[in-house]
Amino acid sequence: MALKERDKKHLWHPLTQHKTHPDTIAIVKAEGCVLTDEDGNNYIDAIASWYTCMYGHCNPHIIKCVTEQMQQLDQIVFSGFTHRPAVELSEALIDILPNNQNKLFFSDNGSTAVEVGIKMALQYHFNKGEKHNTLIAFEDGFHGDTFGAMSVSGLSVYNGPFEDFFLKVVRIPTPNGKNHDLIIKQLSDIVNTNKVAGFIYEPLVQGAAAMQMHDTHGLNMILNFCKHNNIITIADEVMTGFGKTGKHFASDYLATKPDIMCLSKALTAGLLPMAITSCSQDVFDAFYNDDLSKGFFHGHTYSANPLACRAALAGIELLKSEDMQANISRIIASHQDFGQRIETHPKVASIRQKGIIFALDLDIKMERYGNLRDKLFHSFMERGVFLRPLGQTIYILAPYVISEKQLNKVYIAIEKVLDRI
Ligand SMILES: *Cc1c(COP(=O)(O)O)cnc(C)c1O
Repeated sequence: MALKERDKKHLWHPLTQHKTHPDTIAIVKAEGCVLTDEDGNNYIDAIASWYTCMYGHCNPHIIKCVTEQMQQLDQIVFSGFTHRPAVELSEALIDILPNNQNKLFFSDNGSTAVEVGIKMALQYHFNKGEKHNTLIAFEDGFHGDTFGAMSVSGLSVYNGPFEDFFLKVVRIPTPNGKNHDLIIKQLSDIVNTNKVAGFIYEPLVQGAAAMQMHDTHGLNMILNFCKHNNIITIADEVMTGFGKTGKHFASDYLATKPDIMCLSKALTAGLLPMAITSCSQDVFDAFYNDDLSKGFFHGHTYSANPLACRAALAGIELLKSEDMQANISRIIASHQDFGQRIETHPKVASIRQKGIIFALDLDIKMERYGNLRDKLFHSFMERGVFLRPLGQTIYILAPYVISEKQLNKVYIAIEKVLDRI
């Protein structure tokens, strides 16, 4: 029996209503930018498997490094022990992070990286003898699916059963170049009526909000406001990190640096799950004390798994290479050309781009996971391209190693599908 049929017996998939969406596609091989299913069909992975495999699937350099590592040291408790892959990763990562970041805390995924960031912000104030119980977040942000991360995400229609159990969060709009005064006024009101611990944000590009992009200057103003009001800033770079915006991190575009950063997804180049929450020396110092209870008593069993650390280190080596940087520049230029070509299409309402992230909004209203959106998804798959439209937004976020020929196939699929809807 085919895998996709055997799947139905025991498996429960994420973000899926199994009654209306019983079918899956079984992928048996991935190489570079190409996925192969069990029937032998090939698809270009134009969203890098949720923004993870930026250096291509089964990248030979990463596989070689991790294979060597797994013959040396597979797993060790990270409480009281350390190891070479974690130490070398810390040196390489601190070297490319914004220069105020100085300490790294490990966990397993983007949501836990956010949980850790939120807990650090809350305990930072607590350790200084103040109880701050409120968080500020953007209205339509996404930070993950665990409770803290869900709480700070924009309210989702799918969160109804859990809302009674959320943390206290106040939401502000994203800066659009015209609403600065309004946002600052709102922030002042929030600070006057609440004890604010932190502000969490996806810098410049909000992935799950369908690649919405906001104003750099406006975000800087918000960050400055936070700095002056003793609010810990938490940049969730789980999606934007590791080159996607055209710089190593979206925070590199901002003059004011975050106190805390959340990293995952492309951190391990799509090979293994791992996350890091980095912070400034000032945040770390608030926990450094003779009093045991002022320490950060949070931990995950697989924290800093040596194989995942080695994959992350190999990923950073690739990211910094001339080849990869040339690929990034090439994709940015190709997207710009494509954008010009497609902008005037009658079905296109608007386009936007930041680095290698390209998005277009269709001139048609669609439900996030509705029927028309599904039809779009299948039209792309029939053309050998894996894209995952979010409502009426079609976005491309392909691995850096995508060839011009493969990229053109993606563009043509989009144009053909636009002509038919
Ligand atoms: C994907 C994502 C998360 C959650 O990461 P998981 O690994 O899926 O838990 C958090 N924040 C942002 C910005 C993301 O894109």
